[in-house]
Amino acid sequence: MKPEKTKLENWICETEKIAVLTRPVLEDLQLSRLNSLLSSPAFRRGYYSNLPNRIESLSELSSLPFTTQEELSENSRRMAICSQADIKRIISDVTSGTTGPSKRVFYTETDIMHTIGFFAAGISEMCSNGDKVLIAMPQSGPSGLFELISAAVLRLGATPVACGVGKSFGEMADIMRSNRPDAFIGMPVPLFSLIRFMGSDFSVKRALISADSCPQSVETALVRALGTKLFPHYGSRETGLGGAVTCSAHSGMHIRENHIIAEIIAPDGFALPDGSQGELVITTIGLSAMPLIRYRTGDFCCIMPDACACGGVTKRLGAVFRDTNDEVSISSLDDALFSILQLVDYSIKKTDSGYEIFALHLGSENIAEEIRAAVLALYPNISFSVSSDLCLPERKPLYLGKRHIIS
Ligand SMILES: [Zn+2]
Repeated sequence: MKPEKTKLENWICETEKIAVLTRPVLEDLQLSRLNSLLSSPAFRRGYYSNLPNRIESLSELSSLPFTTQEELSENSRRMAICSQADIKRIISDVTSGTTGPSKRVFYTETDIMHTIGFFAAGISEMCSNGDKVLIAMPQSGPSGLFELISAAVLRLGATPVACGVGKSFGEMADIMRSNRPDAFIGMPVPLFSLIRFMGSDFSVKRALISADSCPQSVETALVRALGTKLFPHYGSRETGLGGAVTCSAHSGMHIRENHIIAEIIAPDGFALPDGSQGELVITTIGLSAMPLIRYRTGDFCCIMPDACACGGVTKRLGAVFRDTNDEVSISSLDDALFSILQLVDYSIKKTDSGYEIFALHLGSENIAEEIRAAVLALYPNISFSVSSDLCLPERKPLYLGKRHIIS
C-alpha cells in the first residue's frame, strides 16, 4: 500500500495557505521569505547588517557568509531581531546535553506556536486521538521542550505521560507499568536501556526518537522489541527545536522547509550535491526572534537524493551524527557494545592513561570480559579499563543528554 502523504506537508500547506505544494512553490516561498528578512529594518540594524538586502535566487545563498557556533555564542543578543518584550523563551546551554561554547537562542510566541504545530504534525505520524504518549525529554519550565511536545500531543487528542530525564530505571518502569503508554518520545538509548531493564513488560509500540543519534544496533533492537519502525526526528535550539521528521515511508526525515533552508557543505565550505555526506548548514527563515543565516550546525548527514515513497516534495535528511574527530568513536562503540545482550547502559571517560568504561548490566558475570573483547576488536592499540555493576532499580541512565566521551 502506498504510504500516506506526509503530515508535515499538510501542515505546511495549512500554515502557509498553499493549495498544492510543489517544489517551485516551496522554493518561491523560501526565496521570498529570505528576501523579506534580508531587507527588514530590524535585520539591517542587527548582527547581519553587512549582508546584501536581497538575493536574486536561492543558488545565491551560498555567496553569503556562514554563521559559526562561536559567533552565535558571542553575539546572541545582537542576532535577535525582535524587541525584548516579544521574547517569550530563551534556551541556553544549561538545558542542553550538547558540548561547545555557551549559546543563547531566543523565541517569540509565534516561533513557539509554529514549533508546536510542527511537532503535532510529526507526532501525528505515530499517534492519534486517545493514545497515551510517554515523554522522556527535559522538563525545563514553561515553553521548554517537554512542554511544547506535551502541547502538541494534547492537540492530537492524545494524553502526555510525564517522564522527563534523570529518573531511575525503577521509577521509569513504574511510570511505564502504571500508565501503559502506547508511544514514546525521547532519546533512543534511554528507551533501549529501559526496555532491556524491563524485559517484556512494556506497552510502548511506537517511538519518536530525537535529541541524539541512534546506534544501528540500538535501532535494530528497538524495532524488534516494539514491532514497528522508529520515527526519527532532528531538531536543535537553532532550528526552533523542531527541524525534520520522518513520514510513514520511514526513509529519512522531511525538513520543515517553509522555515528552514538546508545545505550540506564539505570541510572547505563548498556546497555538496544531494546524496553527499557533509556538515548540515541551516538558514532559519521562519524564526521571528532569531533567524540565522547559514548556521553551521556541527551535525553531519546528507540530503537524500531520491524522491520519497510518500510522494512528498520536501527534502529529507539522512541519519544525523556529530563529527568529533576523537580517536575513539562513541558511535562505533555504541554499535559494538549494545549488541551485548545483558548490557543496559554504559559510559566512557577519557583518562590520562586511556579510557574507562563503566557498564550497567542485567546479571551476566562475564560482561566486563565481553565488553573488553568487543573494544579490543575495535581499538587494539588503545588502553581501556572496564568495570561494571548490576543495574538495580535505583540506577539511572548514565547520560542525561547526548552520549559523549566524558573528559
Ligand atoms: Zn516521505
